Amino acid sequence: MDGTEAFKESLDNNEDVQLNVKNEEEEIAVLEAEANCLNSEKQEAKFNERVPNIDFQCGICDMTESVHYYGKRPPFLYGLQLLEDSFVMRDPFQPPPLRWKPKSEYFVVIGAKCSVCQKIVCKGTECSFYYTCTYCLNCAKNCLDVAPTEVQAKLRKQLEQDK
Ligand SMILES: [Zn+2]
Ligand SMILES: [Zn+2]
Repeated sequence: MDGTEAFKESLDNNEDVQLNVKNEEEEIAVLEAEANCLNSEKQEAKFNERVPNIDFQCGICDMTESVHYYGKRPPFLYGLQLLEDSFVMRDPFQPPPLRWKPKSEYFVVIGAKCSVCQKIVCKGTECSFYYTCTYCLNCAKNCLDVAPTEVQAKLRKQLEQDK
């Protein structure tokens, strides 16, 4: 599958949603069980969980950042799952959320891998384009001609703003 094919295919899946709630009841049951088990080891793990220890570097603008998590299911996003593997940081300006009240504003997605070339890119408008998943701007531009009009318009608008 070449880049253009991958782009078209992901566009067919027309779900412009970042998050979906996944089996919330089961999740809450697990979390409640965990909350009842507060030994010191657990508390230490929780403390470490707050320290960003994954290095993120954008492959285009070289922006670097320490993030808390890479993947789809950050442990601090209770009951939520990201639609693509992402570099995620807890929002430093927000207190921790109540465990059973998922709140998307408690985290920041810093970047993700381009779904075509796998380059790691930040969420800056000069580096990546998001439509159902993340594309580095190079791949997005390469695929512009085959993209549906709606997507072309969105990308053109983004490119205009960067000028
Ligand atoms: Zn960047
Ligand atoms: Zn790419």
